[in-house]
Amino acid sequence: MIGFVHTALPGRVIFGHDTLPRVAEEAERSGFKRALVLTTPQQVDQGKAVLDLLGERGCTLFDGATMHTPVEVTERALSLLADHGADGLVSIGGGSTIGLGKALALRTGLDQIVIPTTYAGSEMTSILGETRDGKKTTLRSPDVLPETVIYDVSLTYGLPTAMSVTSGINAIAHAAEALYSAEVSPIIAMMAQEGIRTLVEALPSIAANPRDAAARDLALRGSWLCGTCLGSVDMALHHKLAHVLGGIFDLPHAELHTVLLPHALAYNLPAAPKATEQLRAVLGQDPATILRDLAVRLGAPSSLAALGMPRDGVDHATVAALQARYPNPRTLEEQGIRGLLERAWAGDAPR
Ligand code: NAD
Repeated sequence: MIGFVHTALPGRVIFGHDTLPRVAEEAERSGFKRALVLTTPQQVDQGKAVLDLLGERGCTLFDGATMHTPVEVTERALSLLADHGADGLVSIGGGSTIGLGKALALRTGLDQIVIPTTYAGSEMTSILGETRDGKKTTLRSPDVLPETVIYDVSLTYGLPTAMSVTSGINAIAHAAEALYSAEVSPIIAMMAQEGIRTLVEALPSIAANPRDAAARDLALRGSWLCGTCLGSVDMALHHKLAHVLGGIFDLPHAELHTVLLPHALAYNLPAAPKATEQLRAVLGQDPATILRDLAVRLGAPSSLAALGMPRDGVDHATVAALQARYPNPRTLEEQGIRGLLERAWAGDAPR
């Protein structure tokens, strides 16, 4: 490569174990006097803990965040925000909660402090996916990029093992697709390789012992790197398939990424020799099979059928995947995409 363009997204990151209490000083630094705390019903205790830590700088908790950022939920949170005169946003949770924070930031211009508790990586992107009347659309805007991210490794101990594995592979997918993006720079490639390497090293240890501090630390740092890749360059076939299938069949996000990734890589890598070489350097000779074997070994689902997609959905998904316009290293051929989806549906080996 003789030249490249690298656009770094701004952001302040606090990383460590037991960093959650730093939310109070970060809120002060951000000038928050009445921050609204966001989370899901499942993480309400963590949301309350953040509100307690904020003390006078917090106003109230909205615990209704849910998958795919439905506009109705955003509107409910907006009205609570207005009722309390909130002047800042603090999100604690995975991509669903972070998505809600981004949707509110887009509409209000408020700053965000984000405390991620999964490996999805949304905190590092200026991407927001929202659902209106069952249809998900995605936008990129600097207005949704969180200003401050607090990574607290201790919060990830409670992420269930199965979710840790699939969320970790979701992160690997961001990095893998970044490697064959037309926009990839050597800096992003370095982050992508390191992100994949750390997650592949960490996930088996986490599956064996979810409280393995060193492995949790490694995985969260890996997810940060992979999220940065997602935020920096365009994604391709794998992410588009996940978007299309998730939208049509309402399939769980991280599990869907886990099932699709080996098949998308098997399709794309023959047309992406440099990315193949970079993936081989961190994974081994056959990246698609190695990632599938890792997922299966760690107990993750390996077929779209197991996620609840109907067999006759393959036709619909093939048409939708071909209709969407997106950059991809290999031309999208109907037969190839159909075959990929059929194998992913059945849980066959990637090829
Ligand atoms: P999620 O946020 O939906 O979380 C899944 C469940 O796990 C929730 O019930 C959550 O409360 C719970 N949970 C999260 N962390 C936990 C923890 N440490 N301990 C116990 N429970 C915990 O899942 P996700 O995979 O992080 O996010 C998926 C959503 O994020 C999707 O809607 C996806 O489109 C979006 N996403 C967006 C981007 C972006 O850049 N815009 C990037 C990645 C994902």
